[in-house]
Amino acid sequence: MPIDVIHVSSEVYPFSKTGGLADVLGALPLEQAKLGQGEGARVTVVSPWYARLGGSLEPELVTRFQVPGMSDSSEVGRIVREGVTYLFIRQKGFEGPELYGLANDLERFVYFCKAVPFALEALELRPDVIHAHDWGSALLAALLRFTPVPPALQNVKTVFTIHNLQYQGRWNPWDLLSWTGLPASLFNPDGLEFFGDVNLLKAGIVYSDAVTTVSPTYAQEITTPLYGEKLEGVLRRTRQNGRLYGILNGLDMERWNPRTDPYAPFDPLEDKARVKRELLRDLRLEDRPTLGLVSRFAEQKGVDLVIEALGELLEDWNVIILGNGDIFPERVLSLLSKYAPGLHFRQGYDEALAHRIYSGADAFLMPSRFEPCGLAQMISMRYGTLPIARDTGGLHDTVTPDVGFLFPEATFASLLEGTNAALEVFLSRPQEWRSRMAAAMVLDWSWKKGASEYLELYQRLLRG
Ligand code: ADP
Repeated sequence: MPIDVIHVSSEVYPFSKTGGLADVLGALPLEQAKLGQGEGARVTVVSPWYARLGGSLEPELVTRFQVPGMSDSSEVGRIVREGVTYLFIRQKGFEGPELYGLANDLERFVYFCKAVPFALEALELRPDVIHAHDWGSALLAALLRFTPVPPALQNVKTVFTIHNLQYQGRWNPWDLLSWTGLPASLFNPDGLEFFGDVNLLKAGIVYSDAVTTVSPTYAQEITTPLYGEKLEGVLRRTRQNGRLYGILNGLDMERWNPRTDPYAPFDPLEDKARVKRELLRDLRLEDRPTLGLVSRFAEQKGVDLVIEALGELLEDWNVIILGNGDIFPERVLSLLSKYAPGLHFRQGYDEALAHRIYSGADAFLMPSRFEPCGLAQMISMRYGTLPIARDTGGLHDTVTPDVGFLFPEATFASLLEGTNAALEVFLSRPQEWRSRMAAAMVLDWSWKKGASEYLELYQRLLRG
């Protein structure tokens, strides 16, 4: 019998995206559908129908339904693409284009979770597994277990994936309990309660049949106070009773292929010197060893450590930084780049420049304080640009010491140890640098392995 799996997420590429969560939902279901053709998996993704959806396809309206207790009716639109069905729920609260950042975000996504079972019922779907992702769909597991749901969903297995533990969704308990109909008895420290609030992410962790996160090392780290965002206790118990797994994210290997790069295709082993020369010329930098960094500016990503180390780094390297986010690093880097030759800073989100940095830099910096998985290091390796990365989470699982350079602490001194180790090889052992590039470029980050690990997990849950 084919497994019928329904992913539920607040974003899915190319229809809606603010970050890596969308990329995973854009790739994993397609790979599962491909893998499942033989042994059987039917894959559906359910997401909100935001006013503006990306991509070239428009959903076709397929049904209207009523969520008990809600006055307005809701609608479902459908797109079928490469063997995956995408269902978009249109309901109150999602009239605008924005994904998040509204005053009533929690309410919107709680209503979304409440609507999902009834949307599935309206379409007569009977999934074996519902796989929810991050805080926006985390409450679904509790609703399926503790509120009246359509009979077809009463025995469904639930999987919950944590992509980012920092965003949890904390809310006033009395509003949540009255709006959802969840029993007040769940408001206790082993249930929904979290320092006097309810915590949606915690609901996903406590009430799902299995909990996963996006790399094996991060799955260990989040059970410790340093990385656990105050949920380490509940995550430790989840691991002890065998419900916590780490499954490494994959990369879209077609989209990130240097030989067919949409901006400037090249072969890193043959053409790196030329591509680098053109990049440095366009950015008015001298011919020196060159470090790239492309990132959101959030505390997690450690761009402040690069700023601390900049004086020393610029002695030996060009440093090219592309990113935006927190205002303080943006302002400091804008100012410094006026006066520091060797530093090029571009503020903003710039897909084309990102590709040129991955292509033209010699090494790529990722000084993350924590990193659930990280894609940028995989991309840079594909492009023959060796990562210099903090030894944590998904970076630990993907950057091996024969290819890249890991440093142990999230401090500027440790970062400099990493860059100095890289510089030594780059300047004194060019042959070794070249073989590291060659080894990096052939690593396989495709979703095949991750997608089958998730399918195996579903099968295990279904066997009981
Ligand atoms: P996260 O999802 O935590 O931001 P990842 O390393 O998993 O970090 O993925 C980041 C992705 O976003 C990469 O594909 C990276 O190239 C891209 N990215 C980040 N910042 C920028 C930017 N300023 N301009 C272009 N692309 C960016």
